Amino acid sequence: MVSRFLRAGILCCIAAVVLSACSSGDGTHNGLAIDGPPTDNTGSIYPPIESLTEGQWLAGDLHVHSEHSNDSTLNPIAKITALAGEVGLQYLAISDHDNHVAGDVASHTWADSDFKNSPLIMLHSAEWTTHRGHGNPFSAVPYDHQRLYDARDNYDVEIGALVKELGVHLSANHPAASDHFGFSYDMVDSMEVWGSAIWADDNKRAVAIWDDMLKSGRAITARGGSDSHHGYPGEGETPSSSSYQAPANNVGTPTTWVFATEWSAQSVIHALDNGRASVSSNPYAPRVVFYADLDADGEQDMMMGDHAGASGEPVNFRVDLVGGGLSDSTPYTVKVITDGYTLMELSIPPGQSSVSFTDTPPADQRKYYRVEITGQQTDFPEVPISTALSGNMIALSNPIYFNFDPAF
Ligand SMILES: [Zn+2]
Ligand SMILES: [Zn+2]
Repeated sequence: MVSRFLRAGILCCIAAVVLSACSSGDGTHNGLAIDGPPTDNTGSIYPPIESLTEGQWLAGDLHVHSEHSNDSTLNPIAKITALAGEVGLQYLAISDHDNHVAGDVASHTWADSDFKNSPLIMLHSAEWTTHRGHGNPFSAVPYDHQRLYDARDNYDVEIGALVKELGVHLSANHPAASDHFGFSYDMVDSMEVWGSAIWADDNKRAVAIWDDMLKSGRAITARGGSDSHHGYPGEGETPSSSSYQAPANNVGTPTTWVFATEWSAQSVIHALDNGRASVSSNPYAPRVVFYADLDADGEQDMMMGDHAGASGEPVNFRVDLVGGGLSDSTPYTVKVITDGYTLMELSIPPGQSSVSFTDTPPADQRKYYRVEITGQQTDFPEVPISTALSGNMIALSNPIYFNFDPAF
């Protein structure tokens, strides 16, 4: 986790320079008022807060299998990226099982011309498939996955050191499933708290595990991942087949949104590192953005994933829903969760897209706030059954952190 903040610090320096050069000067951009870094952030131990406006929201799926996994249908990567592009995704992690190729994903998934020529931002990934559970490393550039595969039965402390040496973002997969991540969470930067709706019960348990990790002081980013093994119906797939998941489990169910400073794999991973991400049930559903105004001047100082010290004064929080699928006939419910319990439930009435609340994080203790949105699902005709299976879960934010130790 230290490496995450070191990386953030380096990029923040660059971002700060860009921000000062790009500032519009009037304190607003796209309707969002900003006033720069919060005055009561000590600045001494917390990473500098990056711009809340200079960037773009990118949608993607961080757990997808292709024909290079033996338990997947024979969908070539091009077929998967074509569907992903059609439904509005901009980035993708093809995470084929490494044990199906004895660790040599570099000669299979990454060597595939469809992977190399994809019009989407492609992360270098693979599903680290071990006796102790599954994880996805994410990297902007090729890394030596073979070493991670070969180290799968080593002690955690050795694997954690290797993850740092390789410079990858390691993410725990389906933490409540039978192949749950059975390693130390000290070595991961994110968790798959929301998988396909066909595993809805697992998703609830995964969020509970995530809350436990947050309560422990680990600022682990929540992400989604469909874990789709069976892309859009292809040759040999029929609705009566037990492996026919396509209508219920395909790319974008769920969708992970990241606030990226540029169109690059590195920016996607940087946003995941820093928790500037949220998850939505599908690409057409509203996405949630969660902000905090630390000094009650009406201007937002932080967004989800950001860290600050608490001054002991009230903080104003704002929850925005964004997206073309926003219902204008039914309300959305916003559940505010802090330290693993529900602090309050709020409503966003039809025709509105934002709600605010105030709370006072104590100056002398660690505290996080996050939000979950429930309401009417937005249709996703390309994967029709997913909408019905998703229940009323629409979106989930990452936390805003107070007094968390940046060393963890
Ligand atoms: Zn898995
Ligand atoms: Zn998988």
